[in-house]
Amino acid sequence: MSETSAQPKSASVVAANLAAVRGEIAEAARASGRDPAAVTLIAVSKGHDAAAAAAALAAGQRVFGENRVQEAQGKWPALRAGHPDLELHLIGPLQTNKARDAVALFDVIHSLDRDRLADALAAEMEKQNKRPKLFVQVNTGEEVQKAGILPAEAVAFARWCIDEKNLPVVGLMCIPPVDEEPALHFSLLRELAKDAGLSQLSMGMSADYALAARLGATHVRVGTAIFGERHYPEKA
Ligand SMILES: *Cc1c(COP(=O)(O)O)cnc(C)c1O
Repeated sequence: MSETSAQPKSASVVAANLAAVRGEIAEAARASGRDPAAVTLIAVSKGHDAAAAAAALAAGQRVFGENRVQEAQGKWPALRAGHPDLELHLIGPLQTNKARDAVALFDVIHSLDRDRLADALAAEMEKQNKRPKLFVQVNTGEEVQKAGILPAEAVAFARWCIDEKNLPVVGLMCIPPVDEEPALHFSLLRELAKDAGLSQLSMGMSADYALAARLGATHVRVGTAIFGERHYPEKA
């Protein structure tokens, strides 16, 4: 993995970045009358090596996000051995044929967006007797290249996952288009979640996590602002 990883930031830089991000989240939450503890910071360690993740662990961070099953499999089992309280989130698109590995490794999966994946996850959860929590990913910008279910179908899909497939769906997730005002997308996601009877919102990244925290995010997914730039090309 080292050849694709960014240079790890020094541990003290990661710790300082984490403290700054936590401070901004708390401030944004309070400014909108929310309890800062209602916003979970997911430190997104994709594109960074185990040393960077270890630095965040040493600084007290326990909730991490990865967007590829394989990269996470190479990085996290060893780190987790010393930290049973660690929580690992899959935030990237999930192929149906990786459902087994995803259920085995992750505590939360943010990218449920289609019937076939719901079926595969339900089958694996039954088989493994392990039930990671799920977010339904909504393609709020209706971008052709992006994963996620369309907004018009999101509520019915989430209800079907819960009521018919007995899946542990807890909320909705979105990634706003890069060139649009994220507040519109965060507000739309919140409305859809309300309609679906769901309480959790996974929204907000390095550029807009404070805004997301003001608009009701329960989970913000922050990578660059904590670990620095990633050095490999990204898939949408
Ligand atoms: C990479 C990624 C993030 C973190 O992005 P940053 O801009 O580095 O904070 C958040 N969410 C998803 C789904 C991602 O793939």
